[in-house]
Amino acid sequence: MSQNYNLPTEVKFCAECVISNQRPITKVETKHSNKDEKETTFFDENGVCDACNWSKIKKTKIDWDKREKELIKLLDFHRSKKGNYDVVVPASGGKDSMYVAHILKEKYNMHPLTVTWSPHIYTNVGKKNFYNMINNGFDNILATPNGKVHKLLTKLAFMNIGHPFQPFIIGQRVIGPKVAMEKKIPLIFYGENVAEYGNRIEDNYSPLMDNNLITAFNIDDDELLLSGVNIGELKEKYNLSNNDFEAYRSPNIDDINSLDLQVHYMSYYKFWRPQENFYYASQHMGLEVADERTPGTYTKSNGLDDKLECFHYYLMLLKFGLGRANSDSAQEIRDGKISRDEGVALVHKYDTEFPEKRFQDFLDYTSIDKETFHKTLDKFRNPNLWEKKSNFWDLKYKVK
Ligand SMILES: [Zn+2]
Repeated sequence: MSQNYNLPTEVKFCAECVISNQRPITKVETKHSNKDEKETTFFDENGVCDACNWSKIKKTKIDWDKREKELIKLLDFHRSKKGNYDVVVPASGGKDSMYVAHILKEKYNMHPLTVTWSPHIYTNVGKKNFYNMINNGFDNILATPNGKVHKLLTKLAFMNIGHPFQPFIIGQRVIGPKVAMEKKIPLIFYGENVAEYGNRIEDNYSPLMDNNLITAFNIDDDELLLSGVNIGELKEKYNLSNNDFEAYRSPNIDDINSLDLQVHYMSYYKFWRPQENFYYASQHMGLEVADERTPGTYTKSNGLDDKLECFHYYLMLLKFGLGRANSDSAQEIRDGKISRDEGVALVHKYDTEFPEKRFQDFLDYTSIDKETFHKTLDKFRNPNLWEKKSNFWDLKYKVK
């Protein structure tokens, strides 16, 4: 079976960064199936992507002092006088969530409760950073899904939709709102709006996350797709019960409305600079980087937590021609940290690297043999983007 996801047939790269018009934009995860039609990042008449255009707008056209006043007003409304938790911060112990939790507590005198959805397999440095966050003054709830079910769903998501991280993403998306509902804390703060990286530019003008992103997952609906399979079929075929899916269950919209739960992005209120967040988190929370760079990219400070995350990016590379180095360098170009030429060179050097170092971990976690693994890769490799050279696959279109 071949896959091309109905992406634009002519591949174009942004004139200012390194992403292409094949980049999909974030969607409600349960709509994922093999027959997906992807919406992709918008490019303007000058061949510039929405993420680059937004990065210019945020440097020149947003009144950040005014935005901070909006933030203070919001926090003044929610701040607990008795010292109860008054904001939930979904946090991995990475630079962005550490920054958000720390400024809310130390600069704005809020009482954050951090909430973490466990990685598939913690890296040593990821675990250290998780405890660095806690030990620097934060209460935390760690949610860890049933390993047997999560491994099965990860395996099926890889084999059926080429998206091994789908179960993780669903869990990560619902855990903050679920804890907020349980503890009746009507405010959640995330770091950046994904529109920073190429969703619709207008999304950046709202401080609020679309409730569809956190309420879409009603596990009682047997027709709902998870890992590319109906929940009803999953139950029947693998002898699972509703309880096995409980960790993925989203809060429902009526409950959210009755608590008047609001999910805000800090990137609406603060000029968002990932590199600055990194310095901030290192200085104030003891954030550590890895000893070596993350597979598929040149940085030591992104994607630190989960040993398997490199496979999420590797599948993105097969499907859309864009891997982790592309995403990291596009961001650094927009932030003025590297030139476009440097970014292009980094993409050529690292983007297509196979995560060999983590390969056995992935096979062990999903109980897949090498042959099945490679067959699955071939199934999801986009034929519009890849061509077979004598003994390897090469991208047909490379950023120049
Ligand atoms: Zn761009």
